[in-house]
Amino acid sequence: MKVTEYFEKADGKTLISFEVLPPLKGGSMQAIFDTLDPLMEFKPPFIDVTYHREDFTYNRRPSGYYEKTAIRKRPGTVGICAAIMHRYGVDAVPHLLCGGFTKEDTENVLIDLNFLNINNVLALRGDARKFDGKFVPEPDGHKYAIDLVRQVEDINNGKYLDKNIENGISTDFCIGVAGYPEKHFEAPNLSTDLEFTKQKVDAGADYIVTQMFFDNENYFKYVDSIRALGINVPIVPGLKPLTKLYQLNSIPRLFYINMPEELSKGIMAAKDAAGRKEVGIEWLIHQSKELKKRGVPCLHYYTMGDVETIKRVVEAVY
Ligand code: FAD
Repeated sequence: MKVTEYFEKADGKTLISFEVLPPLKGGSMQAIFDTLDPLMEFKPPFIDVTYHREDFTYNRRPSGYYEKTAIRKRPGTVGICAAIMHRYGVDAVPHLLCGGFTKEDTENVLIDLNFLNINNVLALRGDARKFDGKFVPEPDGHKYAIDLVRQVEDINNGKYLDKNIENGISTDFCIGVAGYPEKHFEAPNLSTDLEFTKQKVDAGADYIVTQMFFDNENYFKYVDSIRALGINVPIVPGLKPLTKLYQLNSIPRLFYINMPEELSKGIMAAKDAAGRKEVGIEWLIHQSKELKKRGVPCLHYYTMGDVETIKRVVEAVY
């Protein structure tokens, strides 16, 4: 079923969903099951699986020269989605990237997904590779998520890249896109970023999932700004627990978001690691309860493999 159909069917009730990361190359699928098995009691209608573009590593050769190798460290998104659907009977939402894909690669992935009966995707641009500094698309790939949305829409209408294909089957993908309550870091300002988000919806996106935030006011203001642009699609809040001291700096650095003063003070004042974790969990429970009270369509948790924390939070709000 489509993600948006679950929201319609829920009729105002807040759903719970999770995002998981593929294991590092060489790792086992069991890591995903170990994360999800304890969370299935909360009946998530869908589970997102992230996609990871290849990155470059530089290995020193005996001659002293460095050899550049491209490695995808977390492969397996499509296979993991199929395995999740098979094991739990819930829908899986693969993240689909512009980065690392030509249009032809994208089309072929969409065909695989369709054959596997996976009919939800989250269409994203992807981040820059570490060594590129800025986002570089494939020579025949997409530069922005909106172009990916358009390609998914094309195949939904039976339009393939090869113009010789006549009467190609139409797929029926439900398309999610990313939204940034505190602005995407490359956007010159929030209103420009909102305008680009509107364009993704106008191009065919069915719902928005937000970047994490720790201050619900940012989400509420974001929803108001999006609605003011005439966009009525569901806006799913993305939520992540902050449980470790170093995350006070790493989360703002990696995700370009602010930490509320009260949260950072609470974390810094805690006596030890266990105390800091408690502060982070209580914060997320409070955030989740308030969002639920305000009738958000779904609480979408970025699990990051920390099943114990996520379980405690969801138990408190479910
Ligand atoms: P876009 O919508 O293309 O926007 C990128 C930037 O370009 C923005 O600043 C936007 O304002 C600007 N822009 C958009 N359109 C135009 C235009 N036409 N002209 C000029 N500027 C424009 N990354 C991964 O690698 N794998 C994942 O699985 C993954 N999952 C994610 C899930 C969620 C819910 C979120 C919020 C992010 C996720 N990301 C993931 C990170 C995401 O790929 C990055 O944030 C990326 O930098 C932007 O992706 P986007 O789809 O928002 O890009």
